[in-house]
Amino acid sequence: MTTGYRENKRGILFTLSAPSGAGKTTAANLLLEKAEGLRRSISHTTRAKRVGETDGVDYHFVGRERFEEMVRHGDFIEWAEVHGNLYGTSFANVEETVSRLHSDLLLVIDVQGARALRERGVNCRLIFLLPPSMEELRRRIETRGTDTAESLATRLENAKAEMAAMEEFDYVVVNDNIDQAVAQLMAIITAERLKTENRGLRPNKSVLSKGDSK
Ligand code: 5GP
Repeated sequence: MTTGYRENKRGILFTLSAPSGAGKTTAANLLLEKAEGLRRSISHTTRAKRVGETDGVDYHFVGRERFEEMVRHGDFIEWAEVHGNLYGTSFANVEETVSRLHSDLLLVIDVQGARALRERGVNCRLIFLLPPSMEELRRRIETRGTDTAESLATRLENAKAEMAAMEEFDYVVVNDNIDQAVAQLMAIITAERLKTENRGLRPNKSVLSKGDSK
C-alpha cells in the first residue's frame, strides 16, 4: 500500500444462499467477475458430475464413503444433504484462501449450510437472495422446464420454508433486476471490506513519526 498503512488482513467469509430459482448461480458468477479479490469456495460433493463440470474447479467430486470419512475426521466447517446428495465446505479450502492468500471467499451454499456456520460461531456474513415474488419464482422454475408438476410443487414448498429463514441472514437482496442485485451484492462486499475490524491496518512508522520526528 502507498497510504502509509500496512495491511495484514485475513480474508472475509461471505455466504450466498437462496431458494431454488432465485438466480443464485447467475448472481454469484457475475459478482465473482466484478469483485476483485473475491474467490469462490470449491465444495466437496457426492453428486455426479454434470456435463461441462470439472473436478477441482466446480466441485471436488468424491464418493459417499470418502465424504463420510471426511465428516468423521471433522474436515468440514459445514456440510449438508441437499436433494439426496452431500455437500460440504472443507476447513482446508477456507484456510488456504482467507489465511494464506489473504483473499475473501464466497460460499455459494444452501440455507442449512449458512445456518450451520452461524450456529458454530464462524465469523462470516450471510447473504440471502430473494426472488421478487412467489409468482415470479414459479414462472422461473416453469420456464427452466426441467421439473415435473410434482417436483415443481416440492420446490415451491421448499422455497417457502427457505424464505422463512431470511431473518437469520445479515443481508437480503431482492433479485428483481439482475444488474441491480449484483450491484447491491457488490455494495455489501465493499462495506464489509471497509469495516475497521476487517482492515487489519497498522500505521507505518513513517505515519507515526510525521510531525513528531525528533
Ligand atoms: P448443485 O448440485 O445444483 O450444484 O447444488 C445444489 C445445492 O447445494 C445448491 O443450493 C448449492 O448452493 C448447494 N451447495 C453447494 N455446495 C455446498 C456446500 O458446500 N455446502 C452446502 N451446505 N450447500 C452447498
